[in-house]
Amino acid sequence: MSLTNEAALAALRTVKDPELFKDIVTLNMVKEVRVEGTTVHVTVELTTPACPLKDVIERDVTTALKRVGAEDVKLTLTANTRGASSGPKKDVLPQVKNVIAVGAGKGGVGKSTIALNLAIGLQRTGAQVGLMDGDIYGPSMPTMLGIKGIPPRVRGAKILPHHVHGIHAVTIGSLVEQDKPLIWRGPMAHGAFKQLLLDNTEWPELDYLIVDLPPGTGDVPLSLCQLLPITGAVVVATPQQVALDDAIRAVRMFQQLGAPILGIIENMSYLPLPDGSKHDLFGRGGAEQVAHQLNLPFLGELPMFIELRVNSDAGNPHANYEKTPQLRDALNQIVTMLAGEVSKRNMEGGPELTIT
Ligand code: ADP
Repeated sequence: MSLTNEAALAALRTVKDPELFKDIVTLNMVKEVRVEGTTVHVTVELTTPACPLKDVIERDVTTALKRVGAEDVKLTLTANTRGASSGPKKDVLPQVKNVIAVGAGKGGVGKSTIALNLAIGLQRTGAQVGLMDGDIYGPSMPTMLGIKGIPPRVRGAKILPHHVHGIHAVTIGSLVEQDKPLIWRGPMAHGAFKQLLLDNTEWPELDYLIVDLPPGTGDVPLSLCQLLPITGAVVVATPQQVALDDAIRAVRMFQQLGAPILGIIENMSYLPLPDGSKHDLFGRGGAEQVAHQLNLPFLGELPMFIELRVNSDAGNPHANYEKTPQLRDALNQIVTMLAGEVSKRNMEGGPELTIT
């Protein structure tokens, strides 16, 4: 019996996306199936270029098709980041598929560092990424991006995000006078964020927009969250108990706003020592426990690395992914976990492929 397109498609229905727990046909990931003799040409579109399970999908597709008689499988893997098909505030930033807010219960836990490195990590997978720096209290982003003192370009009445390190970034620090303390109150912050970051900024088409929120749960981070069509939020915490209490408050803030929590990241988990051992400065694992208690995804832990601090101060974020393998691996794990959680949120696809 010769192999047909229908039989090949039926075989692909047995292949489950290991993260999304549904078959790849139902998930609308199969874009083409063409049988030529005993060769099957198949195109599978991943839901994010950062898909951590490419190899598993590739293996399972090949196995399923060989089981129904294919001798040769020509698989093309493409990626098209999914965005939410519906949701509130769809008229705000319609050119952005996913808005990811990065928050923390308090300052100094590495929230801005992680926001930037998430943006860089997603960009390195091939995604179009923007970074909105709304942290008015700790305007460290211009330094970390190496754009301190450089004003953004302007077209007409619009601000153009800096195109730097492959990402599109607008930092509140480069829009307000630097090195001067600002007293921001809720209503004023709301107006300023709306004007500076949304109305007057020309954001390009983006797969992911990472938003670095002001720390804490006061009215300033709340104002920014209320303006944005947030796909989900990430909470950064250090492992010691006092910091975790604050992180739980941050989780509650997002939940009250109706923003899904994509996960918790533990920063400064431990200090890797030159002899290969690990020094648990703050009690490693605390944030993971909190994630389990609250039934939320744990996206991973980031140890302390002098290189991370040095590269941040030097405005050289790609070095975090190039020079120190342990640092690169920790960041990549967090990035792929995050992309997976976003894909899960956007799971419902369009109509399935039908063979004509
Ligand atoms: P926040 O945004 O929470 O206030 P930052 O991202 O500005 O915190 O980080 C505070 C400082 O800690 C910065 O100097 C940053 O380089 C450093 N830092 C953050 N995370 C790490 C880490 N995992 N290893 C080493 N230094 C870190």
